[in-house]
Amino acid sequence: MARKSLGAVLPSWGQDHPESKVSLKVPLADQVTFKVGGLAKALVEVGNEADLEDLLALVRKNNWRYFLLGGGSNVLFDDKGFDGLVIRLGGQFTISQIQGATLNVGAGAKTPAIVKLAQDNGLTGLEHLFGLPGTIGGAVFGNAGSQKGAICQVLTGLRIMEPDGLFSDLTEEDFEFGYRRLKLKAPKPIIVSAQLSLAKDSVTSIVKRSQEIAYIRKKQPKGPNAGCIFKNPVFEGRQISAGFLIEMTGLKGFALGGAMISPEHANFIVNVNKASSLDIILLMEEMRRKVFDRFGLELEPEIRLPSWRD
Ligand SMILES: Cc1cc2nc3c(=O)[nH]c(=O)nc-3n(C[C@H](O)[C@H](O)[C@H](O)COP(=O)(O)OP(=O)(O)OC[C@H]3O[C@@H](n4cnc5c(N)ncnc54)[C@H](O)[C@@H]3O)c2cc1C
Repeated sequence: MARKSLGAVLPSWGQDHPESKVSLKVPLADQVTFKVGGLAKALVEVGNEADLEDLLALVRKNNWRYFLLGGGSNVLFDDKGFDGLVIRLGGQFTISQIQGATLNVGAGAKTPAIVKLAQDNGLTGLEHLFGLPGTIGGAVFGNAGSQKGAICQVLTGLRIMEPDGLFSDLTEEDFEFGYRRLKLKAPKPIIVSAQLSLAKDSVTSIVKRSQEIAYIRKKQPKGPNAGCIFKNPVFEGRQISAGFLIEMTGLKGFALGGAMISPEHANFIVNVNKASSLDIILLMEEMRRKVFDRFGLELEPEIRLPSWRD
C-alpha cells in the first residue's frame, strides 16, 4: 500500500478524534526550553488512550517517523526540524489520582504540578523533583532527580504502549533504572502513566526538604537551556561531575555563535542569542574533545538529539 504523507492524512484524522489536536508545520523552537529547532511536519497532542492506539496504527501503516515529546526540557532539535510526527500526551494523560499514599499520574502531567500536589497532600518522596521542568513521562524516561535521589525510588508501576500498539502494565520486576535512564524490555515504549508510591509526612517537613533542593537548583543557569548536557562519567566505579571536568578544561563562558557554555555551570549550554542547533552541537563536540584530551574520559550526552531524518 502506498505510503501517505502526514499532511494528507492527519487533518481528517483530527476531525474524527476531537479529543486530540493536530497541528501541521509546527516550529519546534516554541516547544522546547532550548528555543532551538526548525519545523516538525506535524504535531499531535493526543487526548486519550484510544486515540493513541489509532494514531500509532496510522504511524505503522504509513511508516512515519515519530518522536514522543514531553515538556521539551531535555531535547535539542535540529534547525532543519523533524521530518515526521511529534506526539505529545495531553487530555486524559495529564490527570492524576491519589489513593492513600499512592499517586497515579498520567505521563503528560507537568512535573512541577505533581510535586506540588504531593506536597499539598502531605506525601513525601518527590522532593528531589522540586523545581524540575517537564512532564512525568520525561522524568521517568530519564530517571530525573537531584544528586541525592531520583524518581525511580518511588516508581512502583508503569503503563506503557509498545510500538506494536499494545498496552502493558508493568510492575517493579519489569523495569530497571540506571543513572538518568530507564531500561525496559520493550524497545521505544510510550510511557502512558506512572504509579508513584509515596509516604505520609508533615507538609512542613516536605516543604523544608523541597527548599533545600530549590536552593541547589536556584544556582542553575538562567536563559533558554536544556539542563545538563552530559551525564556524569564513571571513573573507577565513582561518578565524576561532568560540569567539574568541563570547568577544568577552561571552557566556562566559551561561546560559539549564539550559544555559550554557562559561566555559572559548565555542564549547561545557554542559548544566549538565537543559537542554531549547529552552534550547540559544535560546543558539545568541543566540551567532549577537551575533556577526553585532558582526562581520557568520554562524555555521553544527557540531552536527546532527534535527527532531522534517519
Ligand atoms: C533548567 C533545567 C534544569 C534541569 N535540571 C534537571 C535536574 O536537576 N535533574 C534532572 O534529572 N534533569 C534536569 N533537567 C532536564 C529535564 O528537565 C528532565 O530530564 C525532565 O524530566 C525531562 O522531561 P520532559 O517532559 O521535558 O522530557 P522531554 O525533554 O520532552 O523528553 C526527554 C526524553 O524523554 C522522552 N519522553 C518524554 N515523555 C515520554 C513518554 N511519555 N514516553 C516515552 N518517552 C518519553 C522523549 O522522547 C525524550 O527522549 C533540567 C532541565 C532544565 C531546562
